[in-house]
Amino acid sequence: MVLSLNPDLVYDGPIFDTHTHAVDNESLDLMVRIQKRFGVERAVLICHSPGAMRYAKREYPGHFVYAKYFSGVQRFTDGVDVIAKEIRNLKEDGYDLAKMQSAPVMRARAKADPDELRLHEDEMSPMFEALGDEAVPFILHLSDPDTYYSTRYSDLEFFGSKERDLSELEGVISRYPDVRYQIAHFAAQPEIHRLDNLGRWLDSYPNFNVDTSSARWLSRELSKDPNRASEFLTKYSNRIHFGTDCVAYTDDVNYYEGRYSALRLLLESDVRNMPLPFQDADTINSGGTQINGLSLEDSVLEQIYWKNPRRFYDF
Ligand SMILES: [Zn+2]
Repeated sequence: MVLSLNPDLVYDGPIFDTHTHAVDNESLDLMVRIQKRFGVERAVLICHSPGAMRYAKREYPGHFVYAKYFSGVQRFTDGVDVIAKEIRNLKEDGYDLAKMQSAPVMRARAKADPDELRLHEDEMSPMFEALGDEAVPFILHLSDPDTYYSTRYSDLEFFGSKERDLSELEGVISRYPDVRYQIAHFAAQPEIHRLDNLGRWLDSYPNFNVDTSSARWLSRELSKDPNRASEFLTKYSNRIHFGTDCVAYTDDVNYYEGRYSALRLLLESDVRNMPLPFQDADTINSGGTQINGLSLEDSVLEQIYWKNPRRFYDF
């Protein structure tokens, strides 16, 4: 079935997409239809409203695990105790896990000082203690592509360096060994020059896995050295979850198909210099983004696509 979609795709088993978002209901219907065509049988759904969760539970029983969405702004507005309380009630409210979007842009949105409420600092500990006590898995997005730091994060009033943000992220992982993390976007280190550091983290801290979202960022960076990337994904194949970061917010079929095709071509195929099936704003003036496939072994694909997420979410 999948083979008829694209002759370069080789994997024929089930897929668990560990990073999708629900914004509106009709778009969710479309996203699920496209997921099924691409072999996605399970997904993590990050719910941007309680209504989105109720709708998905009614319409798609058994398809999703449900993440409650926490904005990185909330700790500056409501305070950490409110977040900790919501985490303690999360399972009762029908969710399975928590997701926090705490990218640097949130710091600017909250007009927060670069030193204020870094996640690894003492003030934030009630949130992580709640995650550990309640055994709530935590998807965390904290840092961003190198390309963002050199363009949109140049305002030093709100932003520091990527190195500083990564040390905050490492601080979070190392400080709370009882919390189980899925660190989004390859822990913000899919850039080839960062893989050694990510490998060091994976070797040092057993309590986190990474996801492969986003399709654009991962395709752009891992395609720059497919041999090194393939070696890395094979070595750490038991710590990686497939995830797209598809957001159910639009009726544009190409939006969803583009992300599933791009990531699957990247992981499975041996294509060379294939244009990303959608536009990458970060390379628009420098020749665009091309996919160079990693040709991962079947057993590696099986772990990343299915076995690791099943184990992690016990689902
Ligand atoms: Zn996301």
